[in-house]
Amino acid sequence: MPDRVGMDKIVSLCKRRGFVFPSSEIYGGLASCWDYGPMGVELKRNVKDAWWKAIVQERDDVVGLDTAIMMHPRVWVASGHVDGFTDPLVDCKSCHLRWRADELERQICPKCGGEVTEPRLFNLMFRTFMGPVEEEASTVYLRPETAQGIFVNFENVVTTSRKKLPIGIAQIGKSFRNEITTGNFIFRTREFEQFELEYFVRPGADEQWLDYWVQERFNWYVKLGIRKENLRLRQHGKDELAHYAKDCYDIDYLFPMGWSELEGIANRGDFDLTQHAKASGKELTYYDAEANEKYVPYVIEPSGGVDRSVLAFLLDAYDEEEIEGEKRTVLHLNPALAPIKVAILPLSRNEKLTPLAKDVNKRLCSSFVTDYDDSQSIGRRYRRQDEIGTPFCVTVDFQSLEDERVTIRDRDSLAQIRVPVEELACILDAKLRGEAFNASALWATRQK
Ligand code: ATP
Repeated sequence: MPDRVGMDKIVSLCKRRGFVFPSSEIYGGLASCWDYGPMGVELKRNVKDAWWKAIVQERDDVVGLDTAIMMHPRVWVASGHVDGFTDPLVDCKSCHLRWRADELERQICPKCGGEVTEPRLFNLMFRTFMGPVEEEASTVYLRPETAQGIFVNFENVVTTSRKKLPIGIAQIGKSFRNEITTGNFIFRTREFEQFELEYFVRPGADEQWLDYWVQERFNWYVKLGIRKENLRLRQHGKDELAHYAKDCYDIDYLFPMGWSELEGIANRGDFDLTQHAKASGKELTYYDAEANEKYVPYVIEPSGGVDRSVLAFLLDAYDEEEIEGEKRTVLHLNPALAPIKVAILPLSRNEKLTPLAKDVNKRLCSSFVTDYDDSQSIGRRYRRQDEIGTPFCVTVDFQSLEDERVTIRDRDSLAQIRVPVEELACILDAKLRGEAFNASALWATRQK
């Protein structure tokens, strides 16, 4: 097992096994745009579902929301994005490549060593036109974060949900940033998905809730299979904090290019609601009946990237092993995230085996995402399922025709057990749901 997997291996696996393809590939691709293939779409959906379940469905203090990508242009003035959502841009005077000035170690082009221009501020928001006439009045922005859709709906949600503070409002959706430099596969792109929670609390309770959410979010990644040693918490220095933030932590992952942000958890004080109240003229306060007072709540914001999480889950699950002299590539994904839960593999494409194998698939496919595969040798089919992280393969052989039993093979331990077809669904259900997935323990046994 190589110490840390390189990005090239993940990119190649993603292409080969249908997780992620370059966008518009038949036209040569479009820089930093990616399409999720049949396996990728399942994985990404499972990541989003796991977040939604943990943040919204398993809690009674958080509700969900799904707001429009295009919002009133004044939203972005009030939020500070029109004036302040900028990066300093420099051009190389020789090769004309563009760079983020704050990412250059020296003021020369990293590619050709040429002199670079003075930095100028570049707004990262994509602009487009609403309606048929391209005039200034109809300029709208593609949202650069989902959070503002939550703030402008604060009043609607609090009134209709009839919940008391603290209350969280959660959203998953696409965001767009015209990043100056992109790269590292799906780590930094111009179109990406975020999961964001705005958790509104009473002023004074904010610091305690920030600590709470930092821990919750860190543990979420661990529970879903990322090894603790590949995660770290980093508190922002005072000079690094956004002007509106009182405090902020990043959850960083050890990506192949080094420690980089996976998610940020910020204490935004009352900045956003105050700004929107001022700009819209609507009062955005909360009446606390118990304390008999009205105030502008403070907000704690855990904000993460779906695509970055998908990448981290893939990187952390990737393994290469040698088994009986043969190399196998395997994704030790948490079963909750695995694109396919159970593969049904008849020993061969023999016509006697097919009816029973198909029947087994029929019994399972309404409860689990299954894959029926009868092509090539059984060994190659196991390898294929290992590479996409399928936790269990069910093999139907000639003995099965006699004793109505099939074999379940475990992806991680390679252990095989024979079980009655009648009990198969129950056993798989228990295995997929009941057994806690402990990535660190699993890796400890594999590295012996
Ligand atoms: P970075 O410093 O990497 O640019 P950021 O601090 O600007 O990120 P936030 O505004 O805090 O990011 O956004 C919250 C999350 O959204 C990030 O932690 C990241 O997971 C994700 N994200 C932000 N920008 C991108 C991008 N260009 N591509 C993919 N994911 C992104």
